[in-house]
Amino acid sequence: MMIDTGAGNALNQRFSASSPNIETLKQAIETKRVKHIFLTHGHIDHIGGISSLQSEVNCTISASHEEARHLTSGNSPYLDPIMNSTCSPLKITKKYGEGDTITVGNYDFQVLETPGHTKGSLSLYEPDKKILISGDTVFPQGSFGRTDLPSGSSSELLNSLKRLSDLEIHVLLPGHMPPIISQTPINSIKDSFRNAQTMLSYY
Ligand SMILES: [Zn+2]
Ligand SMILES: [Zn+2]
Repeated sequence: MMIDTGAGNALNQRFSASSPNIETLKQAIETKRVKHIFLTHGHIDHIGGISSLQSEVNCTISASHEEARHLTSGNSPYLDPIMNSTCSPLKITKKYGEGDTITVGNYDFQVLETPGHTKGSLSLYEPDKKILISGDTVFPQGSFGRTDLPSGSSSELLNSLKRLSDLEIHVLLPGHMPPIISQTPINSIKDSFRNAQTMLSYY
């Protein structure tokens, strides 16, 4: 299972070649082995690589019910609110929501609805191995996702961060910034929640 695809080549015209692109991704993974692309949310920097991968992988593409609405209709102002590129409609073949489980080998991921960055943002939690895949909801070093893009909500993000900060997490795999991998519980999500309480309560 691949979690998000990066921007792929979608933003190449706008950004310099310094950011990792789909060719880098293809060198890092065996794309033919990918059976499932799970999208944490619909932003272009997480979905743009799909068009470049689609010719090589024939797999399930999944997202939340909420994000799927925007992805299947190619709602560009929602999917790329910053750069305003045109987003082609995507075929979402499976939709997930709170309470669903995704099994990959020995990993049983619980699907958590964690709105705030976008309304349909999902996180995945593996309770046995204490892994959190957090999309753009929470990042390391006490940081967290922005809430000023379409469907974003500071109060919803605070609730999501509170919820995540109560989980025991040893491995944090965020949508941006380097991962945290530890043998013991990590505290950075509590820091993110505390920082968000201070910063977002003004809005
Ligand atoms: Zn995002
Ligand atoms: Zn992002």
